[in-house]
Amino acid sequence: MTNLLLPNSEKLIIAGPCALESREQLKKCVEKLKALNIKIIRASLFKPRTTPGWEGLGCEGLNILLEETLSNGLIPATEVMNEIQAKQIIEALKQYGDDAKMLLWIGSRNQNHLEQQKIAKILSKNENIFLMFKNQMWKDIRHWLGIYEHIIAAGFLKESLLICHRGFSPNTIFNFQKYRNLADFEMAKRVKEKTKTLMIIDPSHIAGYRKNVKEIIKQAQKYDFDGYMIEVHPDPENAKSDREQQLSLKEFEETLKIITNFEKKEIKIL
Ligand code: PEP
Ligand code: MN
Repeated sequence: MTNLLLPNSEKLIIAGPCALESREQLKKCVEKLKALNIKIIRASLFKPRTTPGWEGLGCEGLNILLEETLSNGLIPATEVMNEIQAKQIIEALKQYGDDAKMLLWIGSRNQNHLEQQKIAKILSKNENIFLMFKNQMWKDIRHWLGIYEHIIAAGFLKESLLICHRGFSPNTIFNFQKYRNLADFEMAKRVKEKTKTLMIIDPSHIAGYRKNVKEIIKQAQKYDFDGYMIEVHPDPENAKSDREQQLSLKEFEETLKIITNFEKKEIKIL
């Protein structure tokens, strides 16, 4: 299973705030994450919401995201929701030279396959862009595999593709369970095997509460997954989205130890 983002059999760690809120916020994250040898920084520009709320800085934040990460030798990552955004991102990335790489992902709420194909098609024209797709919110392996098929059918290079498991919505109106979303690691394992594509676990969106993030990582460690995407915020209590699940920078450092100790080797990405 070769992937251009992870040529060796190391774990890939994507970390950063749920959403980009300001240059200051991103600077604080970058400083700490870079020191921890994290190479891919998430800070989403777009925030599709279950109920109305803050929707992110949008393309207005694009230059902040690119400047603060690329100037530090890091790879920026954001969700992308449609073709127009994908085009804008490609154009902006070009300004940063031929070596500038970026990771974009299709989120769990973005389940119009025509839009998924359009995004994949536009992005397939740029070999510096990696694409990740999350599982949809409801539990159905056929649909999850279908997203993969749509992306590949649109011509996106398999070697630049990643899959992310963020759990499935609990099918209840009242949320009595401990976690925000329910992981199905067995299903994620089957999807990884069938697609022969890297599988990244998102413990933040599964846990929903920062105190449970470590627990989810430990559960995932029973499987041979390829990495984690973890939400980290310099001031989680005042975050504009997902404030209960984002780790503080200090908590992230602690959490990272669970991963590095388990791997028993230093994490080197790229
Ligand atoms: C996110 O990663 O911030 C996000 C919105 O995730 P999901 O699509 O899994 O809800
Ligand atoms: Mn989030």
